[in-house]
Amino acid sequence: MLSSVAGMGLVAVSGSSTSPAPAPISSLASFSSHGNFLSSSLCVPDLVPKRTWKVRAGEPSEKSLEVMRKFSEQYARRSDTFFCVDKGVTAVVVKGLAEHKDTLGAPLCPCRHYDDKVAEVQQGFWNCPCVPMRERKECHCMLFLTPENDFAGEDQHISLKEIQELTA
Ligand code: SF4
Repeated sequence: MLSSVAGMGLVAVSGSSTSPAPAPISSLASFSSHGNFLSSSLCVPDLVPKRTWKVRAGEPSEKSLEVMRKFSEQYARRSDTFFCVDKGVTAVVVKGLAEHKDTLGAPLCPCRHYDDKVAEVQQGFWNCPCVPMRERKECHCMLFLTPENDFAGEDQHISLKEIQELTA
């Protein structure tokens, strides 16, 4: 199954909008930030199945991008989690959250498919930080990684310039 990341369209394998959280992306994913189609595997060893991410056209406002950038930094510090060693992953997810904030008024998780995004926002389960993250520190987008995660970097900071460059 596929799920799309916000209007910019980050697409990943996942279940339905109301199904339980998928397996942590760290065990499934593959990423890239080349052009409009993300398919690199910077974070993921060859041993694990690949997850493909896509980014379609659509740019969030700089204001929402900054709001979600700051939120991500603050929440990483608060939850004692870290960004991915591949900041391209972080940048794409932050951008997806910002786009949902613009289009839906809430930072709906950008890594899932939803039949009805408005209903999902109202339900709140997948508004970032989602329930799996709040309850179990499970972020299948790999935005917030616990220190023991193989793909966790040492950073809880990402600049607006980094996000813009990594998602250009
Ligand atoms: Fe998506 Fe949850 Fe991670 Fe936020 S914390 S990016 S909602 S998986």
